[in-house]
Amino acid sequence: MFASVLINTTAKKLNKVFDYIVPKDMEDILQIGDRVWVPFGKGENLSEGYVEGFKEKSEFANKEIAKIEDSILSKKNVELARLMADKYFCNVQDCIKLMLPPGQATKNLSRRTREKTARFVYLALPREIIQNDLAEGKIKSEKHQRLLSFLLDNDGIDVSDLEAITEVSKSVMKTIEKNGYIKFEYEKIERNPLSHKKRKKDNKLVLTEEQQDAFDQISFMIDNDEYAQFLIHGVTGSGKTEIYLQLIEKVLEKGKNAMVLVPEISLTPQIIDRFIARFDEPIAVLHSRLSDGERLDEWTKIKEGRARIVIGARSAIFAPMENLGILIIDEAHDGSYKSDMQPRYNAKDLAKYIASENNIPLVLGSATPDIVDYYKAQNGDINLITLTKRANNSKLPEVKIVDMRQEIAIGNRSMFSLELQDAIAENLKNKKQTILFINRRGFSTFVMCRDCGEALKCPNCNISLTYHSFENKLKCHYCGHEERVPDICPNCGSKKIKYFGSGTQKVENEISKLFSEATTIRMDIDTVSKKNSHEEILNRFKEEKIDILIGTQMVAKGHHFPNVTLVGIVAADGSLNIGDYRAEERTFQTITQVSGRAGREKDKGKVFIQTYNPDNYAIVCSSKNDFKTFYDGELHLRKSLNYPPFCDIILIRVHSKFENKVHNISSRIYNELLKQKDNNLYVFKPVPSPIDKIQNTYRWRIVVKGRLNKKAIKTINSALKPIYDENLNKDVTIVVDSNPNSMM
Ligand code: ADP
Ligand code: ZN
Ligand code: ZN
Repeated sequence: MFASVLINTTAKKLNKVFDYIVPKDMEDILQIGDRVWVPFGKGENLSEGYVEGFKEKSEFANKEIAKIEDSILSKKNVELARLMADKYFCNVQDCIKLMLPPGQATKNLSRRTREKTARFVYLALPREIIQNDLAEGKIKSEKHQRLLSFLLDNDGIDVSDLEAITEVSKSVMKTIEKNGYIKFEYEKIERNPLSHKKRKKDNKLVLTEEQQDAFDQISFMIDNDEYAQFLIHGVTGSGKTEIYLQLIEKVLEKGKNAMVLVPEISLTPQIIDRFIARFDEPIAVLHSRLSDGERLDEWTKIKEGRARIVIGARSAIFAPMENLGILIIDEAHDGSYKSDMQPRYNAKDLAKYIASENNIPLVLGSATPDIVDYYKAQNGDINLITLTKRANNSKLPEVKIVDMRQEIAIGNRSMFSLELQDAIAENLKNKKQTILFINRRGFSTFVMCRDCGEALKCPNCNISLTYHSFENKLKCHYCGHEERVPDICPNCGSKKIKYFGSGTQKVENEISKLFSEATTIRMDIDTVSKKNSHEEILNRFKEEKIDILIGTQMVAKGHHFPNVTLVGIVAADGSLNIGDYRAEERTFQTITQVSGRAGREKDKGKVFIQTYNPDNYAIVCSSKNDFKTFYDGELHLRKSLNYPPFCDIILIRVHSKFENKVHNISSRIYNELLKQKDNNLYVFKPVPSPIDKIQNTYRWRIVVKGRLNKKAIKTINSALKPIYDENLNKDVTIVVDSNPNSMM
């Protein structure tokens, strides 16, 4: 008998499988997924590998498998890894790594996993020095500037959160560390992530008619052991979580287990609490704020069948949970389900695969569905369930758009409009709570006119140009168009053209000036820097009745504060100009989510959206809670410009220290792609990336638009094959990212 073995090499040749002879004494015990040692390459060296399959014949096998190391992986794991390697154009080893016990990756990978334990990032120099170096242009790289500016407001933040928010990779952070600006600190964390929780029992609620209908449809699939994908589009507070809880109860009664994915940043204590309060069955929690030790404990608990429910962020999709009965993805529109690191997988795709393999329902839930998911629902690929009412009969808040251009016109230079100031005063008087929200995404990277609200856009792509301070240029992240920053607004001629952004600290200072009697609490990334402080802040806000919660994206999701009746969106425009075709979608989502925090119980809520773009349809539709109109408009636009869901966007990045190699390999890949004559794909010419040089590494990229179907995957893999085969990619990194979160 022969076994094909995936060798654990970091070699650039992707995913080569080699045949080995299975020694007689191993024949009965060796299984697919087993980790083995095999002779590989010159000399007596043994390499690690994984058994991928068995065969009766092999023309190539001439050496024997030397030793079985362990059998942690299953056949299913290996199949999934294989599928991912193909679909996400990556090394199969990187996929396997995701399925191994945390902190126990194989030799070649162990160094990388250990790095993950660098948990918190702090400024290593006094703020003044860093501010000064930034101001004097001593920090050249745009990424370094971005990261440091962010840390100035959010010192001491979890490294993964920092990466997710600033889109600066951990390897770049390493360089900034080397330059002496930041330091990583390891903080010891207790092993049971749920141990501090007090358990308060709670009983299931009688479902509303809409909830019951949703429950019944999904329940039907559970009864019949059938796969189906559902999208629950329910307004904020419509009781989606209650539906999940009751579906899970049903699955548990059936003797099966449940998996729930929630976004990384909003893996809120409140969500976990609701599960703990409802179920006696053991729950495992997996997310990046756990230590390696904790994560290993949770992983083992699942592997040994001691957990019935797993709740986790993106990578929890790889949790070794057997006997699954349902898979739920909450806030399914959230960008964190797509990985920005190798392998660049999308947990939603994998969930679909796993659900259909297991014949179980996959439930996506959102108040603001992803345009692509909703499009699939419209086409019948996903079953759409709509919840139009809040479950506890509270009314949706009254929303008002405030035109900040008018405020400037009447001489109000404060960050708060007069109306919002009045509403805050009123709320303070009535002892009600207020949330003030700042949209931090893409802060100060775009240029906008303060008089007419116009952001500068690319003439070719209709996407906001991104400001690159070092070169003082505006660039398009899609087609590579660039231009100088104009002195006057091309739309209205005003000189009040500036970079945008305001921080939570600024808001807090201004509040204390305007309302000295108000108690405030800030919740931005620095509050999650300490274990559980995220939770403490939310609890303090709730229980101590602190008047005003000031925060970024984190305050937007999932929370339920009965006493909050006012939400002020201080600057709604932040995400309108992120240099991405999803800018409007992100804006709609964020505003709707934040607005949904207001008036969730008896007292009706009020929301003020402050903006320089009061006519923008994302803002107008979100103010009316009108997803359908927004969706129709957005879809129309996407169709005319050919953006997803009408195509996929595949980004091929080529990076190297050698400028000529970047050019050569980029144009070689481009030509290979053209040679494939796949007319389903439109291949743009290679251009420098928006940030075209970082730390002496040149960065180019090729944008490909088209359907990423089996044929396209084959086309791209075939185009890359000669490059790998001829070893042309020495000193060059090639990364393929489909539908990336960011075009940087
Ligand atoms: P969503 O997840 O859609 O935002 P939640 O599940 O958090 O909504 O529900 C919002 C509020 O409504 C919660 O306070 C919840 O306890 C309450 N709720 C949910 N379902 C019901 C129900 N059937 N009857 C009464 N209250 C409900
Ligand atoms: Zn203007
Ligand atoms: Zn463009």
